[in-house]
Amino acid sequence: MSTFSGLIEEIPGISVDRFDRQNMNSSAYFLTHCHIDHMHGLNNEFFDHLKQYNKYLYCSRISKVILENKYYRNLRNIETCVKDIAIDKQIRIKYKRNRDSEETDILLVTCTSAGHCLGSVMFIFENRNKLILYTGDFRINPRDYSKIKSLNHRRDFPKKFDKVYLDTTFLDRNFISFPTRIECINLMSEVVKEWLDKSPRNVVILECSALFGSEFLYMELSKSLKTLIHVKEVVYNSYNRIPDLACHITNNPLDARIHACVNKLNYSGLTCRTNVLKQDILIIVPSVLKWKGHNTSVVGKWDKNKEGMFNVCYSMHASFNELEKFIQYFKPKEVYPCVIPKDTDFKTVSQLLNQIRR
Ligand SMILES: [Zn+2]
Ligand SMILES: [Zn+2]
Repeated sequence: MSTFSGLIEEIPGISVDRFDRQNMNSSAYFLTHCHIDHMHGLNNEFFDHLKQYNKYLYCSRISKVILENKYYRNLRNIETCVKDIAIDKQIRIKYKRNRDSEETDILLVTCTSAGHCLGSVMFIFENRNKLILYTGDFRINPRDYSKIKSLNHRRDFPKKFDKVYLDTTFLDRNFISFPTRIECINLMSEVVKEWLDKSPRNVVILECSALFGSEFLYMELSKSLKTLIHVKEVVYNSYNRIPDLACHITNNPLDARIHACVNKLNYSGLTCRTNVLKQDILIIVPSVLKWKGHNTSVVGKWDKNKEGMFNVCYSMHASFNELEKFIQYFKPKEVYPCVIPKDTDFKTVSQLLNQIRR
């Protein structure tokens, strides 16, 4: 559950990943990535509001492509009011600290890749007296923390952040460590290949929970197995505008043996093709939530309760250990947990953060 209101306490006048309620008074907006829990209030009326008051929303180039496809009826306002910013390039923006005053201030903003889903970024905000990092959702290999240009003065010299707004989705001892995504993809490739080689009738369903987020997986599976991935119609147009991804996906079900087109919530088999028998389908579930209470460093295993289902411990968020290393590497003066993991509370998470910081 998100605990973040959208406002950065230290920099009044800007909003990140929330676009409703008191955020409407802000004068500059930032979006880390296009998952719906980070897009509250983002709709056609919001883009009209930006246009009317001469305000801007800043995001990555890929997030802008996704917004253009999602809110295509408001394309003109999106083209003018959404500014895409390049990775690791600092920009200066003017913003108003107070809605009722004409006085403007300068904010230095840099975004850097968050490794969470397609187009996801973190934001570094710097004004006269504060240096703030807002991670959004992220997962980066701890070995790379010291190499990220925008988070370090130079290699192994981390920036001293006054406060980090942190993705604490898995700051929970039930999720101590996860396999790397490469380990997961290698195992998935093996299992899928064996299945597809068995019979030309066989197909695979990739049961991914979020609409965006599995693109890296699609690309790698497509490359290693030399097949296209059939994706949902709603994401096809966005994907098709991203050259690295476009050559691995299709909107024609007959072109693909791997299907990421299935809606998990009202699952009723493979609906894009009528002639596929249940026994010819292998279901792969790349997800972490199923692993709660189990050993989360296991890469993957067959489901005990459902025949033909293979679960993979694939995470797009940092594990407990990865978060611990993040905090211990950067040693920020303050950490705000943006997410409270399921079945826990703010106090427990704050205590965990304090233990780690000590
Ligand atoms: Zn997300
Ligand atoms: Zn399909």
